[in-house]
Amino acid sequence: MKDAAHHDVVIAGGAAIGAAVAWHLLAVGDGSKTIAVIERDRSFRDASTSRSAASIRQQFSTPENIRLSQYGLQFLANMSDRQGPQADPGLILGGYLILAGRTGLAALQDNHRTQIAEGAPIRFLDVDALAQTFPWLDCDGLAAGAHGEACEGWFDADALLQFFWRDLRAAGVPLIEAEITAVDTAPGRVTGVQLADGRQIGCGALVNACGPGAGRLAALAGRPLPVEPRKRTVFVVHCPTAPDGLPLVADPSGIWVRPEGRYHLTGYSPPQSADQTADPHDLEPDHGLFEETLWPALAARIPAFETLKVINAWAGHYDFNTLDQNAVIGPDPELPNFIYANGFSGHGLQHAPGVGRAVAEWLAFGAYRSIDLSVFGYDRIAENRPVIERAVI
Ligand SMILES: Cc1cc2nc3c(=O)[nH]c(=O)nc-3n(C[C@H](O)[C@H](O)[C@H](O)COP(=O)(O)OP(=O)(O)OC[C@H]3O[C@@H](n4cnc5c(N)ncnc54)[C@H](O)[C@@H]3O)c2cc1C
Repeated sequence: MKDAAHHDVVIAGGAAIGAAVAWHLLAVGDGSKTIAVIERDRSFRDASTSRSAASIRQQFSTPENIRLSQYGLQFLANMSDRQGPQADPGLILGGYLILAGRTGLAALQDNHRTQIAEGAPIRFLDVDALAQTFPWLDCDGLAAGAHGEACEGWFDADALLQFFWRDLRAAGVPLIEAEITAVDTAPGRVTGVQLADGRQIGCGALVNACGPGAGRLAALAGRPLPVEPRKRTVFVVHCPTAPDGLPLVADPSGIWVRPEGRYHLTGYSPPQSADQTADPHDLEPDHGLFEETLWPALAARIPAFETLKVINAWAGHYDFNTLDQNAVIGPDPELPNFIYANGFSGHGLQHAPGVGRAVAEWLAFGAYRSIDLSVFGYDRIAENRPVIERAVI
């Protein structure tokens, strides 16, 4: 008989990714594995999941990311069928419009070819077509845009998280509220974790679902992982003159904007050279950013936003993979029962269902059965061989 403080699978972090792994383990496994989720804050207040812009797109450059989004979209669309109206994720298929200037044109064209090959219904628009289709857009400096309508949009992140946890609670999966402060290892494997309250939990496998804290958890196991927190501020603005039916617009300047009810959300991703590691405790919105950088660029691209009022702002941390802005998924080569599900660099929420299913398949069968995610394996980290995701917002 097993010690009560031992589980076949221990999942570190219980937000979107950790919960998705646990949920899919129940769905794909034979039910024989015991699971526990260890989460330092069950309110999930500071988790990236709760601070996300909760948007979903198929405009990626890595085919596997497109496939993960396709499964994510299907999953969101079926949630109410599974749990009833309480699980409605509020999915709005408002579309994405990703814009490029001359320097980004070749990449946009290349990404578009990949998306079409993956069956993503994305339209490529030259600058004349852009001006005609979106009369509210100032096309100065633009060369083209790519627009996905029916396959892209936004949803309620909390609804997705609660969906997973309703089923996990019903199945009796324990959510242990504690911080993991140490990872115990023996040669070639992880044996358990130690918690801040002094408890020790043994495990057959440990899944790293610690979001922006994933690099720190890996370090506790003595393993390097180039995932760190990068701060992003989201502003809620009221702009009565904003055009109706705006898609999520992502501009080459780094700004993005999308509708949110009667308001709009907008944010800014700095160029890599100006992007820095964040203090994990710093969740103070960067208010100066709005006046100095974001608003001028937003109003230049969509002049209707010249008049607006900031209603609210929040900050969160991207789980940023400094090697290639792509996920790290699968087993550690030196500790094969230590499984990564990290480094999503700002697109992990939409991929949570697909990543959860893939990691569950790995744990249950030792192989991916639906989407092959071996491209995201840790080997590339060890070999310093980036698999660049070019479409990072
Ligand atoms: C401003 C912003 C906008 C975003 N917009 C989008 C978007 O539009 N679309 C999209 O798909 N993605 C978006 N993302 C990214 C997305 O939110 C994340 O990739 C995703 O939520 C990651 O989920 P996660 O479960 O891995 O991490 P998290 O949600 O951060 O969860 C990790 C959990 O691990 C716990 N934890 C960490 N360390 C420990 C430890 N040592 N012991 C115990 N528990 C621990 C934490 O408390 C936390 O609850 C955005 C992110 C931000 C910040």
